[in-house]
Amino acid sequence: MGKDTGEEKLVRKTKIPETTIARLSSYLRVLDELGRMGFDNTASYQLAEELDINDSQVRKDLSLFGQFGKPGMGYETTKLKREIQKILGLTRKWKVALIGVGNLGSALLAYKGFKRQGFYIVAVFDNDPKKIGKKWAGIVIHDITQLKPIIRKERTEIGIITVPAPAAQEVANLLTKAGIKAILNFAPARISVPKDVRLSNVDLSLKLENLSFFLSRRGR
Ligand code: NAD
Repeated sequence: MGKDTGEEKLVRKTKIPETTIARLSSYLRVLDELGRMGFDNTASYQLAEELDINDSQVRKDLSLFGQFGKPGMGYETTKLKREIQKILGLTRKWKVALIGVGNLGSALLAYKGFKRQGFYIVAVFDNDPKKIGKKWAGIVIHDITQLKPIIRKERTEIGIITVPAPAAQEVANLLTKAGIKAILNFAPARISVPKDVRLSNVDLSLKLENLSFFLSRRGR
């Protein structure tokens, strides 16, 4: 537990392990839940228990960003939640562009939860003439050829790629040329981006394969 293995990729510049950043989001969800349940205070062991990790891991993660609780006293739930939101940049609004309004793209567009977390999809693009100009979830679908001017005008900061795999690199290129520095890619394609662009790939099949692994080993 807790020991950096060297496999743990460090986030460029900040030197904060990727796994720590992922855990911060998990802490936030637990703190939300604890707050709703009326817990004004919490402790590292409580956060650890909820996430099935060791409490020294929680303390180690949080210590990378400063001192949040009082030794032996734990943390104030609301205060810690706010601090983690600040660390994750969630105390502000982020403007997001989505490219590819098919099955997945339209489902993401219709989901209202992103706004609650500060992520606003303000620009949407496709290359299908039957979709361009139409509205989905209240947002006009623009022609992909208009990506750069619209993204610049809207000051969009994050791009979501939900186009078929063969088109993913081309779309990523358009996004980076338009000045986007953070991309969430759902297409099952290995795309490359300039060094100063942060790319995050989402692959639900990996998660399903993981579940399949555990199911297949059950009872062995
Ligand atoms: P889809 O075919 O329904 O939709 C794709 C959309 O992209 C269409 O509207 C199409 O017109 C548009 N498009 C195609 N080329 C384009 C281009 N060059 N510029 C702009 N728009 C373009 O596909 P889907 O089922 O919504 O899946 C979308 C992507 O998400 C696929 O790559 C799929 O493999 C992937 N996917 C990933 C996961 C995951 O777990 N990460 C899950 C489901 C689907």
